Amino acid sequence: MKPILLILLSFVGAACAQTNSKPAKMSDALTISQGEVRWLEFSVPEREVKLICRGNEVKFVRKGKFGFAYVMESYFSDFSPFSCKVVSLGQTISEYQFKVEEREYPAEILKVDPKKIKLSAEAEKRVVAEQVVLNKIYSSSIPDFLYSTSFIHPLDSVVTSQYGNKRVYNKHKKSQHLGIDYRAAIGDKVPAANAGKIVFSGDLFFTGWTVIIDHGLDIFTVYGHLSKTLVKDGEMVKRGQLIGLSGNTGRTSGPHLHWGTKVQGQYIDGFVLVEESKKYFKN
Ligand SMILES: [Zn+2]
Repeated sequence: MKPILLILLSFVGAACAQTNSKPAKMSDALTISQGEVRWLEFSVPEREVKLICRGNEVKFVRKGKFGFAYVMESYFSDFSPFSCKVVSLGQTISEYQFKVEEREYPAEILKVDPKKIKLSAEAEKRVVAEQVVLNKIYSSSIPDFLYSTSFIHPLDSVVTSQYGNKRVYNKHKKSQHLGIDYRAAIGDKVPAANAGKIVFSGDLFFTGWTVIIDHGLDIFTVYGHLSKTLVKDGEMVKRGQLIGLSGNTGRTSGPHLHWGTKVQGQYIDGFVLVEESKKYFKN
């Protein structure tokens, strides 16, 4: 946990609290690390405005004279600096420069069911079909915050595998762990990390029984390996509401809760999302 805390403590960017709102100045140096998000607050004129980061439009929320957004950097970063521009009527009104920093991610070795590593043709077909469903879900986020509180950790228990760990499965297959694993027994209560809409509740090949919540503005949280889901597609949930029970389903090496946080199409570190969300949402 320590490296994450250090990164958070060393962050001297320009994201502002709601109580003393002051947008970042163009000259401020902002930093972001691979697999992380930063809260960005910026002035907006009354007319139509777009936020463009790395040439792509990023959804934001407008509240009075300010715009609010999360800026994301992929785990698979090429470490190129980039900027976010506030553009109106084809003109750049303000620009925020980001420097991308590398983050050390530890390696771990795991042993899991070989059938979940080397997929049969049938399993492969299932995974591809599931991906089609998931891509559709992740590309149709509701264009507004569905919450008015900060994100919380779904469980107050030991983290057994951090976000970003490099993984070697059964000595061969290599991948990255793009979520957080919490120690949990079969049947522990799993609450929602924030308010949102249930957009998936079902069984997936890798994450087993899974719940996905859309929190709006391309932010999703994923709860995997559950023994049971307790919510239905389309249901609105509050922060802390019970959504399922932890378990051992899908590709696991034992019972635990896998918590994924997806921002603008990339899995990022949920610990950073929790901390960044507190910069605006004070409760
Ligand atoms: Zn996991």
